[in-house]
Amino acid sequence: MKILVINSGSSSLKFELIDMTNEKTISKGICERVGIANPIFTYKNLGKDIKIDKQEAPMKDHSAAIDLVLKTLQDKEIGVISNVDEIDAIGHRVVHGGEYYDDSVIIDEEVIKNLEEVSALAPLHNPANIMGIKVMKKLLPEKKNVAVFDTAFHQTMKPEAYMYPLPYEDYTELKVRKYGFHGTSHKYVSEVTAKLLGKENSKIIVCHLGNGASISAVKDGKVVDTSMGMTPLAGIMMGTRTGDIDPAASLYVMEKRGLSIKEIDTRMNKKSGILGIFGESSDFRDLENAMKAGNERAKLAYDMFCYRVKFYIGAYAAAMDGVDAIAFTGGIGENGSDPRATICEGLSYLGVKFDFEKNGIRTSGNVELSMPDSKIKVYKIETAEELVIARDTYRLTK
Ligand code: AMP
Repeated sequence: MKILVINSGSSSLKFELIDMTNEKTISKGICERVGIANPIFTYKNLGKDIKIDKQEAPMKDHSAAIDLVLKTLQDKEIGVISNVDEIDAIGHRVVHGGEYYDDSVIIDEEVIKNLEEVSALAPLHNPANIMGIKVMKKLLPEKKNVAVFDTAFHQTMKPEAYMYPLPYEDYTELKVRKYGFHGTSHKYVSEVTAKLLGKENSKIIVCHLGNGASISAVKDGKVVDTSMGMTPLAGIMMGTRTGDIDPAASLYVMEKRGLSIKEIDTRMNKKSGILGIFGESSDFRDLENAMKAGNERAKLAYDMFCYRVKFYIGAYAAAMDGVDAIAFTGGIGENGSDPRATICEGLSYLGVKFDFEKNGIRTSGNVELSMPDSKIKVYKIETAEELVIARDTYRLTK
């Protein structure tokens, strides 16, 4: 059983072919700059250790990009399957499922209609996800397609956590509320952490710290609260996103600088966060290098980032009336030993005894980073969002 995972963005398309007999990735890659000048196609055949980077690959639209992916997967020399019959089903990452979906779903016409309706809440993401689904259905009409939502795992939040104190009709008429994102990662990482804890009932705080970043409180496998909101702009500071700010601050900047809604949206989503404060890059490694070289704005951005993560950990320990484990994941959470140390340094009041030495040793896999006698365990967990999508697709279509 082989599942093709598709993550379709507005100008990019990531793919991964996973063999469900052993849950191993056979092939993966990315089409970048789809529909714009100088497209790039990157492809890996993991079995044969083949990697190709093709500049100027012909990808005038998403249909051409998926066509190129399917042809490459079947290529005699570099491919991994002899024909598309070997692909059993396709799993699509869909950013927003609104209130419609608390689980993954096999895609039919009604699902597409619902996703189109929900697109108003995720105008940057859902239309691109739907485009990938429609192209796949056209190119391989006999295959089943499954939608796996970033929002679904968070649907267990109670109204007191997900409601915004706006006029009530903004919820009933416009569906304005907290939805949360990165759900596949929070689900996977909280499940792995619960297994490592070996406790039946567990209170886990998952810190998914990547370019996009979010934190969630997961009690007995169910999300109690999460830091992203109606959109992925809310919560902790991110690579280019503000995270939580006083909403009136954005109205003030809009007025003073004469910005349109689109311009302030771009400013808060693409020009803020680490990039906004540091000014040179949104990449955390660049930030750490500049900080070590004495750049004060880099130091400020680093301190703000760690402070905000710590702030949410405290809030979520309160929301769950305690915490058994804190799990770090995502590019920064998995690799950034310094930010992990800075965050955990200030958590002794909770009962965290952090193993600073072990934290500094670079190892792959899932690692416990707290002392054996720490009341609260700290882990580094490697997230596997594509695997969650493949597992759900397999579960619903096998
Ligand atoms: P993601 O969005 O999960 O792919 O994470 C991307 C972020 O992880 C970028 O800001 C990277 O700079 C950061 N990152 C990757 N490796 C490291 C590392 N060794 N130390 C700190 N940050 C890292």
